[in-house]
Amino acid sequence: MIKKNLVFLPLALASVSLATISPGFSQQLDWEEIGDETVQLFQQYLSIDSSNPPGDVSGTAQFYQRVLEESGVPVELHWTDRPRGRVNVIARLKGNGAKRPLMMLNHMDTVPVDLSAWSVNPFEGIRKGGYIYGRGALDMKNFGIVQLMTMLVLHRNKMLLTRDAVFVAVADEEVSGELGAGWIVENKWDEIDAEYVLDEGGFGTEGFFTSDDRLIFSVGVAEKKVLWLKLSVSGTEGHGSLPPKENANFILAEALSRVAAYETPERITPVVQEMIRKLGRLADTPYNNALRRNTISLTVLKGYVGDPPKSNVIPSRAEAVLDCRLLPDQDPDEFVAELRRVIDDPRVTLEYIEKPQESIVSPFDTELFRVIETEVTKLFPGSLVLPHLIIYGTDSRLFRPKGAICYGFFPGPVTMEEYRSIHGSDERIRESSLRKAVQAYFNVVSKVCSN
Ligand SMILES: [Zn+2]
Repeated sequence: MIKKNLVFLPLALASVSLATISPGFSQQLDWEEIGDETVQLFQQYLSIDSSNPPGDVSGTAQFYQRVLEESGVPVELHWTDRPRGRVNVIARLKGNGAKRPLMMLNHMDTVPVDLSAWSVNPFEGIRKGGYIYGRGALDMKNFGIVQLMTMLVLHRNKMLLTRDAVFVAVADEEVSGELGAGWIVENKWDEIDAEYVLDEGGFGTEGFFTSDDRLIFSVGVAEKKVLWLKLSVSGTEGHGSLPPKENANFILAEALSRVAAYETPERITPVVQEMIRKLGRLADTPYNNALRRNTISLTVLKGYVGDPPKSNVIPSRAEAVLDCRLLPDQDPDEFVAELRRVIDDPRVTLEYIEKPQESIVSPFDTELFRVIETEVTKLFPGSLVLPHLIIYGTDSRLFRPKGAICYGFFPGPVTMEEYRSIHGSDERIRESSLRKAVQAYFNVVSKVCSN
């Protein structure tokens, strides 16, 4: 069971029906108790399996609905495919309309687990050795709970808001996003019309960007474009004992070896330029390498006949898939033209599986960015806050074209080792990180919704 209504202001303040947020307001809250409640809710939330596939998030949506309703926060569930458990949650705390809303966005689905690789049950919210374990502990059930707690604490303290605070939890981020964030954009954006969106795509990092242990909070302001390319070759089929001149597998293998040898040129985009300006230099790591260039991964190779594949049959066709991640300003057609030059073989066909949309960079000279900087460095003295280029895709790509300024932001420290547990085994977050994050997140949101 959750302890309810743990968070109270001193009586004198609580009796004021609408409290304005004074500079010292957050210090009057009992962050130890709010932290306890956060941990309990997080454990319950992690215990609900929302792996995608199959992607049923009805359990997680009903969890949010219950907790919000029990606290008296109005909440709506919007089913987008009820039989398959696709549903989105929207809760809103009304402001006085002086400013446009702030939306907190989280996806409820997670990637599936390979149970054999986990040392604990990923769906029990296990607390062990200073960590809380579970699928979604960093991607992104941690964000969801911190956003939920922000709503609850704002509501319980009857804060006077200058803009609406909107909580949106969606389905299907781990697939196309069509029935989740895509549905919100299509059907609810006119109502929400947020100036700012807080989403995933940033952490308090240790050892990501520099080789020292400085604590650096990255705020995702842009993301790389996802380009999936299919390479295919048609050749002469036949018996393995009688090699033809045109073996599709050999032709494809030669093309791929040219792609493997090709080094995409380094290019410093404005966001990365700002990171370097603040940090001095970026350490030489695969992660930082991906910030500075287009990358190419060979993810699928297929060239055989039969199941299981026949060793003595030459296939007529060979295929490969390249997962390319392009810098935000890279034109995809130009990139594909460059790959054609590298491959330099007309027998190899290149076609788009997924052609990326334009990638918009959110400005980082904004009120919200400055509030994040101030509040985070107050709670984590000596830390740095940086704009950041996200190297993977998030739902924010759907909201930036709507004019929203989107930041990927989680104000809790995460080491590279912990970060690697995302989509992997033993996904976990430090309990101390979660407790600090809820305080920092609340401070940021309450400040930007009351200024
Ligand atoms: Zn995610």
